[in-house]
Amino acid sequence: MKVIRTITELRRELSLMRKKQAIHSEETIVGLVPTMGYLHQGHASLMKAAREQSHIVVLSIFVNPIQFGPNEDFESYPRDEQRDLETARAEGVDIVFIPSVEEMYPQPTQTTIAVSGITERLCGASRPGHFNGVTTVVSKLFNIVQPQKAFFGMKDAQQVAVIEQMVHDLNMPVDIIPCPIVREQDGLALSSRNVYLSAELRQEALVLSQALRAAQESVEIGTAVTAKDIRRLLHEHIGKSAHAVIDYAEIQAFPSLEPLADQEELNAYDDLLIALAVKFGKTRLIDNIRIQKMEVLSHV
Ligand code: AMP
Repeated sequence: MKVIRTITELRRELSLMRKKQAIHSEETIVGLVPTMGYLHQGHASLMKAAREQSHIVVLSIFVNPIQFGPNEDFESYPRDEQRDLETARAEGVDIVFIPSVEEMYPQPTQTTIAVSGITERLCGASRPGHFNGVTTVVSKLFNIVQPQKAFFGMKDAQQVAVIEQMVHDLNMPVDIIPCPIVREQDGLALSSRNVYLSAELRQEALVLSQALRAAQESVEIGTAVTAKDIRRLLHEHIGKSAHAVIDYAEIQAFPSLEPLADQEELNAYDDLLIALAVKFGKTRLIDNIRIQKMEVLSHV
């Protein structure tokens, strides 16, 4: 596994690897897994998917300053390069790209990639500028690595929708591969930010996955019929935690992220996303569940 810190060296190494690979196959698939590091099993699942679907796997680790707001946790974001390298090696990654902030953003930088519309809701509404930071860094990584496939977790479902929109709008030649959310046994979605939680808040944070599961069950058994039913149920469940402060608890169409009006019936939609962002103390956690209508095969 190569650990590379500069764009020039990464391009040189990738070009060599592509040439070697071309001897064995017609098309070389480079799979990119963009992360901010402090890797956990959620990240590992993306690396596994990339390993299965690509000839060359590139993992990037970069805590991207421009996707953090002025009062957010850029400085304190957890970092552990040695442990990350061990995880990457265990998952069979070929190249780990760990650029510095100066390498990614030599000053002055004057170009930003901005997706409108779907970036204005949910996390975009509570974190102004966040998605511009994400789409800018992801575009840069796509240009630097030129992957055929890029792997993203549905943990950040809005991010997946935004990146798919960007790739579509800008005709970027890369397949976006969304990967399922990995959870702890008790339901908590894995996140690098979970280390911020005290034991008490870690326990309370279980209301997120419990609320989502309850919402899904109510849709399935038919006790939740409208968007308002879902919103009420989410608030009820999350309200069981003394410290939870809801940022949003929403239901919308996926991937458009068009919000449903209160009285709208859920069965009018084939693909819905129930998404939560909740603060426990200073720690803001997100989680979601997708509810897709299965094709019912009619028996003739
Ligand atoms: P991050 O390092 O938090 O920016 O995440 C890097 C990638 O890992 C993103 O595509 C995330 O959606 C994905 N990811 C983070 N947590 C999980 C999880 N629990 N399950 C699946 N993917 C995840």
